[in-house]
Amino acid sequence: MFKVEHFVKNLEQNAVRYARDFCLKDKNTYQTGGRAKLAVFPNSIQKARFVFDEIKNANLPYSVLGGGSNLLVSDDGYDGVLVCSHDLKGLSVSGNLVTCMAGERVSDFLKFTLLSSLGGVEFLSGIPATVGGVVAMNAGCFGKNAGDYVSYVTSTSGIYSFADCGFDYRTSRFKEQKDMILSVCFNLENVEYEQSESKSEYFLKLRKGKQPKGRSCGSVFKNDGYVAGKVIESCALKGYQIGGAKVSERHANFIIADKTAKSQDVKKLIEFIKRTVKEKKGISLQEEIEYLGNFEDENQS
Ligand SMILES: Cc1cc2nc3c(=O)[nH]c(=O)nc-3n(C[C@H](O)[C@H](O)[C@H](O)COP(=O)(O)OP(=O)(O)OC[C@H]3O[C@@H](n4cnc5c(N)ncnc54)[C@H](O)[C@@H]3O)c2cc1C
Repeated sequence: MFKVEHFVKNLEQNAVRYARDFCLKDKNTYQTGGRAKLAVFPNSIQKARFVFDEIKNANLPYSVLGGGSNLLVSDDGYDGVLVCSHDLKGLSVSGNLVTCMAGERVSDFLKFTLLSSLGGVEFLSGIPATVGGVVAMNAGCFGKNAGDYVSYVTSTSGIYSFADCGFDYRTSRFKEQKDMILSVCFNLENVEYEQSESKSEYFLKLRKGKQPKGRSCGSVFKNDGYVAGKVIESCALKGYQIGGAKVSERHANFIIADKTAKSQDVKKLIEFIKRTVKEKKGISLQEEIEYLGNFEDENQS
């Protein structure tokens, strides 16, 4: 308790915005979950590094939050320090290099690149995430990944060139080591405005054709030598529902939460899918989505 109060005092002295008992329901795309004990919003690289130094010195439990579009937040909330990228804003361009602060929305980043006649990253259109989040996750679709366009990343621990970012399927060194991305420098291609705009529209159309509507975190499970959606569909789980969480009728790798859903419903449905697929197909599905907070009592359906 003393450690947290000392930490908060230091935040105040260094003009870092924070909030206690911070509601997380409207900060994730399932729109479920409880509250964070303490949320911190650094608005510069310097302040973010200060926050991390303080967290590490005091040995406080922490996690990083971007757009919350890949997170299932416990109904009991998060009992630690949640460092949020929301206030890390700013975009600049120099030649083919676009530098983007981690808290910028992907949609705003794409608008900026379009106006700068730079492209290559249009495939990210429609992902409701932050730039820090898509790079930490190495998010991808249509055969391309966000990391492919990274020149270097500035994080709380240093500056990492592409080769040192450890990009792999839906992961990077930043995610693995809970090292917060603060800004990303992308190396983009010269494109004509119209060409890039129509590419974005094309990818958005493709996405709309495949992706179910409603509250979700995108794909729940990784494709790991198999297409998770097809495997789940082949177990006749489309439309299966627990509480307010349902396997999408349109795409079996999506779980859609209705307005009554609790995170517990989503978690129970995930466990049910994993058990069923293991029994029927012998495949151990691995989550692409991540958990924030405690789910220990929610493993049984
Ligand atoms: C409708 C929909 C469509 C989607 N489509 C796709 C898709 O096509 N391809 C795909 O790969 N994913 C997709 N997703 C999933 C999700 O958008 C991605 O995983 C995205 O990368 C998450 O970014 P975020 O900012 O929301 O991160 P969050 O959900 O907040 O966090 C996800 C992880 O990244 C970490 N993180 C976030 N920000 C930072 C940071 N600044 N520094 C270090 N770590 C950080 C978090 O700690 C956590 O581990 C989709 C989700 C939805 C809801």
